[in-house]
Amino acid sequence: MPEVYHNYIRGRWVPARSGAVFESINPATGEVLGICARSGPEDVAEAVAAAKEAFPKWRKVPAPRRAEILYRAAELLVRRKEHYARLMTMEMGKILLESRGDVQEAIDMTYFLAGEGRRLHGYTTPSEMPNKAAYCVRQPVGVVGVITPWNFPFAIPSWKIIPALVCGNTVVYKPAPEVPILGVEFVRLLEEAGLPPGVLNLVLGGDDAGAALVAHPDVRLISFTGSTEVGLQVAERCARMGKRVSLEMGGKNAAIVMEDADLDLVADALTWSAFGTTGQRCTACSRIVVHPKVHGDVADVLVDRARRLRLGNGLDPETEVGPLVSAAQLEKVERYVRIGQEERAVVLVGGERATEGALARGFFFRPTVFDRVHPRMRIAQEEIFGPVVDLIRAETLEEAIQIVNDVPYGLSASIFTRDIYKAMRAIEDLDTGIVYVNHGTIGAEVHLPFGGTKFTGNGHREGGLQVLDVFTEWKSVYIDYSGRLQRAQIDLEPVTFKLEGSA
Ligand code: NAD
Repeated sequence: MPEVYHNYIRGRWVPARSGAVFESINPATGEVLGICARSGPEDVAEAVAAAKEAFPKWRKVPAPRRAEILYRAAELLVRRKEHYARLMTMEMGKILLESRGDVQEAIDMTYFLAGEGRRLHGYTTPSEMPNKAAYCVRQPVGVVGVITPWNFPFAIPSWKIIPALVCGNTVVYKPAPEVPILGVEFVRLLEEAGLPPGVLNLVLGGDDAGAALVAHPDVRLISFTGSTEVGLQVAERCARMGKRVSLEMGGKNAAIVMEDADLDLVADALTWSAFGTTGQRCTACSRIVVHPKVHGDVADVLVDRARRLRLGNGLDPETEVGPLVSAAQLEKVERYVRIGQEERAVVLVGGERATEGALARGFFFRPTVFDRVHPRMRIAQEEIFGPVVDLIRAETLEEAIQIVNDVPYGLSASIFTRDIYKAMRAIEDLDTGIVYVNHGTIGAEVHLPFGGTKFTGNGHREGGLQVLDVFTEWKSVYIDYSGRLQRAQIDLEPVTFKLEGSA
């Protein structure tokens, strides 16, 4: 019998009130991995009540002490990295190498942000009045609702939950329904590290549980990562309720390959960016904008690489590309390949499900390269989120930049060139939150801000110290020790004084 996974509310593991459940499925084999609580609004309400009760206590715990718990969590992550990685490969499908990277990102983020427990800097500044002190400090926001997608089951929750906690907020976490067991494991880890009850609560379930969390009046901030379609609905609801909301949404990332690029590097980097994680990274490269002089070479090498990639169960060390996460995702990718063909783009390789042998049991799709793609085709404009990449020609750097920018999204872009002038021009003019030079579109590090422009985000950044602005409110403090009323902007005495012996 598969294990049963519960919600975590008020420091206790409890089933959904209704008793409803759903299955977690291994996308490589179809095996049922666990039976999970399907939460409704009543479970969300209990979790929010617990977080609300814990907030006044947690915010008073000195930040360095809060951070000690997070350091312990980081140490547990290090110790159990292999265990979590294997589980991730089983539940989400990405290959073991990448699952280890996902856990490593959570380790990096947890150490990095636990360090903020001894910083969380505000600043002091002179007042415009004499005998008056002025400074500002960060304050926690309150109960935070964290809603995450399935593609980075440890990294993404760590980007949100760890900064939320170090800043003194309490959290209700709703992971994606594709990866509930990893959600449970992440919370167990923090429980074991010593988080007091109510500080972090978990509600497993689907979209309705997410919607209930967004709609709950006691949740002060929603931190959401997922599709643009859902993110905008979340933002609309939050706006009406006067809530803070931080959104990380879809992408349509692109790499520019100029005529002077190192083509061996391009082959390695773009095979990885387009087909790594089966194209299911928010920063995956889905468009290659290429100079006509090297177009043929780039197409040949990518087709060759795509054809040779070994598909299979990610637990097998030989596997290079795992399955898509779900039947729905597989159908979406298939649909987009059909759309591309109807738009008269040409499939150079792939373009179909992979069903030979054991692959028939999972959600496998062959790495696919489209050629003759016009930048305004739907396959060049809309997020596919699978192992599909478009080749688009551009005669000049200006045209290439214009094509990269001409999509609704703006997460990540890259340029391959040996010419410093072209690289600098691209860095300046690409309208994305992340730019790489001579590197694919993936590979962010935790201590730099992460996020995108246009419909990829709403102006916030995760990662870096910038994430602290999501999870704190600023409080400005004035201490007047003059002993009299001093009115700012009004009681401004002229700056005059005399020295002994002066006129
Ligand atoms: P999704 O939008 O379908 O779901 C994301 C989360 O929102 C899930 O937990 C889901 O249950 C929940 N949800 C769905 N409807 C909701 C509603 N009405 N109210 C509240 N919550 C709701 O996305 P997904 O399929 O899980 O993930 C893939 C998407 O995530 C892609 O578009 C990808 O680009 C994006 N993504 C973006 C980033 C980034 O940093 N920009 C990172 C990873 C993934």
